[in-house]
Amino acid sequence: MFAWWRARRRNRIRERPIPATWRPLLQAEAPFFRELSADRQAQLLSDLAVFLDEHGIVAAGGLELTEEIRVLVGASAVRLTLGLDLDHYQRLTEVVVYPYEVILDADHERELLGVAHRHGTVVLSWPAVQRGLRRPHDGHDTAVHEFAHALDLADGSFDGAPALRASDHYRSWAHVLGEHFARLQQGDPALLAVLRPYGGTEPPEMFAVATEAFFERPAALRRKAPELYAELQRFYGQDPAATR
Ligand SMILES: [Zn+2]
Repeated sequence: MFAWWRARRRNRIRERPIPATWRPLLQAEAPFFRELSADRQAQLLSDLAVFLDEHGIVAAGGLELTEEIRVLVGASAVRLTLGLDLDHYQRLTEVVVYPYEVILDADHERELLGVAHRHGTVVLSWPAVQRGLRRPHDGHDTAVHEFAHALDLADGSFDGAPALRASDHYRSWAHVLGEHFARLQQGDPALLAVLRPYGGTEPPEMFAVATEAFFERPAALRRKAPELYAELQRFYGQDPAATR
């Protein structure tokens, strides 16, 4: 879609009233929403309307698509881009939500809670999404994890580096993420106190797991891994540790 057309359409969506059910639903079911400032809450609702207009959310495997699923899954996505342009999700075509506890990967070898496919589809376990929302500070949130992968894919490559704001940011990103990846692989206890060990399996997992910690345990991440926190803060344009 042409940029000017997309901008026009987005403006029209943002001018419409937000459905009255969305805010109470998020207040009740998404503890992270309650912790946002009033301005950020308003922005999230507006971004959510745009996101749901531009990306299909589909229920599969016998799950009935409800407004709750659309709103909570969509909110989990736009929470990451509150300090970024929604264009970072342009390659995301569809979000498929299953009722199953686990999802098999493409090779049917691993049981996962979610999958981000290179062709632009994110697949999520609805029970895992709900668990992630209900435990907002355990550093584990499947939807946040998979949407971080979608941001990683936004520049066309799945390598643990999303589309950074400036070309001269890549060098320190690679250095800091690479160093922390190696330390996590080696089982550094300081990092394991705040990052899931899964982040040490592959560089894209490092970025996704660090993103989970950034949003769910920001103060601990800033304390244990200040350089990593700073890289994520610069990319996401958010400083979640400052509000806790
Ligand atoms: Zn992953």
